[in-house]
Amino acid sequence: MAYDDQNVFAKILRGEISCNKVYEDAWALAFQDIAPQAPTHILVIPKGPYVSMDDFSANASDEEIAGFFRAIGTVARDAGAVPGGYRMLANHGRDAHQEVQHFHMHVFAGRDLGGMIRHSRN
Ligand code: AMP
Repeated sequence: MAYDDQNVFAKILRGEISCNKVYEDAWALAFQDIAPQAPTHILVIPKGPYVSMDDFSANASDEEIAGFFRAIGTVARDAGAVPGGYRMLANHGRDAHQEVQHFHMHVFAGRDLGGMIRHSRN
């Protein structure tokens, strides 16, 4: 899938839509999810135009990948999520219900996050 630069996170990166920013560096931007599913629900996005984990892992440079993952760790640490624990989650594609076509990592924390995945069927 080609990257669509009209997706909502591209607009946030360009400053065309506001966000509640919690962290930014050369590689990543992190902001509060607009519909939080946990007391802490932060989205971390790479600054480059990658559709999903598949695109990012195949096409991003080693520097971009390292910078992005370090940013996620920093965001979780700064949110105070390390002692209690946190979950990272990235959706790719239809079966995972990816809604926004710019790669993003969810960071959830602040409560017992339950089992790893909800099984509707096997
Ligand atoms: P996903 O299903 O992994 O693509 O998740 C997309 C996430 O983006 C959802 O959790 C939405 O609540 C969140 N979201 C959509 N639009 C915005 C926005 N303008 N600001 C912050 N979060 C957003």
